Amino acid sequence: MQFTSEILPGLIKSIADTIERNEEEVTALDQVCGDGDHIINLQRGIDALIQQSTEFTELDWKPALQKIGMTLLTTMGGASGSLFGTLFISMSKAIVETDSLTQAGFSDAYMQGVEAVKKRGKSDAGEKTMLDVLIPVAEVMQQGVVSADKLAVFLENVSQAAVQGMESTKDMLATKGRASYLGDKTIGHIDAGARTSQLMICAMVEVCKRRLKAKG
Ligand code: ADP
Ligand code: MG
Repeated sequence: MQFTSEILPGLIKSIADTIERNEEEVTALDQVCGDGDHIINLQRGIDALIQQSTEFTELDWKPALQKIGMTLLTTMGGASGSLFGTLFISMSKAIVETDSLTQAGFSDAYMQGVEAVKKRGKSDAGEKTMLDVLIPVAEVMQQGVVSADKLAVFLENVSQAAVQGMESTKDMLATKGRASYLGDKTIGHIDAGARTSQLMICAMVEVCKRRLKAKG
């Protein structure tokens, strides 16, 4: 599996759709565990990405990811804006391939992006944040080069890790971000940033699966 940045508008559109479909649920989650603005922050960032969609296709991966990160950083606001911005900017820095990105190249860059988010957020797995989705997904993706016949299973495993990670935040006690001020009131509720991260990852996986089928 190897993609050029020409896949980006499709990925962004699919992310925008899934976030819109789940808008009310995410708002309700962030009203319990945060200040309710996570979806607004995220949609502002996604809208800005949609506006720039075709520009991304003219860039190689490294500058395209840098541009995505800068756009999120400057438009989103909130803790999630700086964290998602950091994710993409750090992925851009880590990328060695330029024009066409392989599954292994993407996975390595993503792992480094997640490490940068940990540093930026001074947080780790188990603290009821987006990292409880981002980290298990990075771990599943660290299997090196996946052979062509195993790509469908690989993609399914990525989705599953995202869903399990998202669900795992339900019973956690928040120790980072706004939710940490609420003590055990957040126990029993999924973290909003974990839910949106999972939705976005699963949406991207679906786009990749469709591409895979079309190619196969
Ligand atoms: P804010 O908390 O500033 O209002 P958002 O509402 O946009 O920002 O985003 C909140 C989400 O950001 C949380 O649900 C959580 O997943 C994530 N988050 C907040 N602080 C941290 C942190 N220190 N490390 C990792 N993720 C965090
Ligand atoms: Mg908020």
